[in-house]
Amino acid sequence: LHLANQIAAGEVVERPASVLKELVENSIDAGASQIDIIIEGAGSQLIKVTDNGVGIHPEDLALALSRHATSKLHSSEQLSVIGSLGFRGEALPSIASVTRLSLISKQAEHDCAWQVRSDQLQPEPAAHPNGTSVSVAELFFNLPARRRFLRSNKTELHHLITTFYRLALSRFDIGFSARFDEQTSIKLSALKSADTYSQRLAKICGQAFVRDANYLEQSFEDIHLSGWVSKPSAHRAQTDVQYFFINGRVIKDRVINHAIRQAYGDLLPSGRQAAYVLYLTMPLDRVDVNVHPTKHEVRFRDARLIHGLINKAIQEAIQETLE
Ligand code: ADP
Ligand code: MG
Repeated sequence: LHLANQIAAGEVVERPASVLKELVENSIDAGASQIDIIIEGAGSQLIKVTDNGVGIHPEDLALALSRHATSKLHSSEQLSVIGSLGFRGEALPSIASVTRLSLISKQAEHDCAWQVRSDQLQPEPAAHPNGTSVSVAELFFNLPARRRFLRSNKTELHHLITTFYRLALSRFDIGFSARFDEQTSIKLSALKSADTYSQRLAKICGQAFVRDANYLEQSFEDIHLSGWVSKPSAHRAQTDVQYFFINGRVIKDRVINHAIRQAYGDLLPSGRQAAYVLYLTMPLDRVDVNVHPTKHEVRFRDARLIHGLINKAIQEAIQETLE
């Protein structure tokens, strides 16, 4: 079983940023309104995520570290209507098998918090406010070959920060704080109304993007697209502002990329990329996210419809900036 976890870890835990993603997604699934992140040693020393979500029952703490013990799916039919970010019950056991993991959690109805560790599954009393902290130390301590595969601290920090930005852009209503070594500290307060979103957008995508972008909003049946796209003439190269979310999850998809690129057509000066932050929401049974363990890939039931919707919405938004 230990080996099975390590093999799964090969798919789920590629680098420190993948650990951060899984931990923060769990906090989001737990209904947290505040998520605090501490990174040390570019994530290979420490990745700590603290939330104020519903917490884990003491009896379920050890279970959370065992394979396929997701609390989020109760039948195979639910696989086709996945509303939570996690559902495979693979992340924590995988991470625990290649790191020194500690899980502390307190539920509001209990007086005390409880802690388990990857090498100590018997819960012990601990101190913690309502919610959960997961500390992941010494990434790949038992897999020297994988550890050697990690890139420079600079590169890993870049991946960590990019991952953080994606998560922070996926939920404006959640407050975040994050410290990435001594390099970067970011505080993003929870935003309740849409007209304040540009505040967070500016911190993550830059003031220039906020100034040069057009807001768009379009619906077809129960499919909704909204977000910001840059003017084709925007002066700065903003290659890194390319975020596409489907039902709150960051997605990289060929159909979507093609629809966006085609919408910009030849309007984009050569060598320049479109910049966008877009959100597609649609009924869960129209899109399959259970394609790959990292869930970055999707399969649409009606890809042409989605392509058309995105293409048209962006073309119209770009037209407005030209008029
Ligand atoms: P999944 O997210 O796919 O269900 P994980 O391995 O990521 O699986 O987590 C296992 C289980 O641990 C989750 O189903 C959930 O019940 C519990 N869990 C993990 N992190 C948290 C958290 N921050 N708050 C509350 N419960 C959590
Ligand atoms: Mg999870």
